[in-house]
Amino acid sequence: MKVVIWGDMEGISCVTRWGHVNRGHYLYETEGRALYTGDINAAVRGAKRAGADEIVVVDGHGAGDDSSFNSLIKERLEPGANYVFGHRWGCFVKPFQEGYDCLILIGTHARAGVADGVLCHTMSSVSWHNAWIGDRVTGEIGISAAIAGAFNVPCIMVSGDAAVARDARDFLGENVVTAQVKVGCNRESAMCMPPADSTKMIEDKVASLLQNKASWVKPYVPPTDKDGLLRFTVEFLQPDRVESFIGKEGVTVDGRKVTSVGKNFWEAWDRYFHH
Ligand SMILES: [Zn+2]
Repeated sequence: MKVVIWGDMEGISCVTRWGHVNRGHYLYETEGRALYTGDINAAVRGAKRAGADEIVVVDGHGAGDDSSFNSLIKERLEPGANYVFGHRWGCFVKPFQEGYDCLILIGTHARAGVADGVLCHTMSSVSWHNAWIGDRVTGEIGISAAIAGAFNVPCIMVSGDAAVARDARDFLGENVVTAQVKVGCNRESAMCMPPADSTKMIEDKVASLLQNKASWVKPYVPPTDKDGLLRFTVEFLQPDRVESFIGKEGVTVDGRKVTSVGKNFWEAWDRYFHH
């Protein structure tokens, strides 16, 4: 059994403020990173308990500057896994290409505009407004699951707040396992489990889920159109943000919207970022 864990900070236990997730803020330095490391370590312990042969953790939080994708506290990392730092979000797919069995999302958050979504946003809290896979509005759960799904890898578990747990069930079906560590009151307030309880819950849920492969949800593969193509669309807040996309292969620009197209989600996603 080989397991991929993608980590983000907004859905971590007791994280409620932008200061918890932004480099340089005292809450990030004193609480946010430690809480993030705690939830990730719990997931790794769960995978080890289940007998996972290989575990890769990808630090996926953009904290700003050199802290982006680099927020976990290294000297406290749970032994027995490999950790990827500094890689652009949603683009480290090597384990999927190498036949890893499943993806687990720790600390993720609801999509932009969800009233009870703690620190909710889609990709960028400052430049993105909405995103769609085909005709379906999506947040990062849908995007992450569709990236893994393009390699036939299922996204089997999500930790975060109640809003993202809802989002996960909506996208991935009732059988996706959710570890709900807090309930949002609004975008920067939540009723939270203490880390001692939430990390135990995460560890136990990961361990039992990995030992029960028959219960896993199927890989999320969005339907293609009649030409066998899949569209990924991002609506930006400001029209000037679309200019850098003009002329890219497989990408069209319409007002504040950029649409990339591919034969599966990974191709559309990769074109959006790289070509
Ligand atoms: Zn984040």
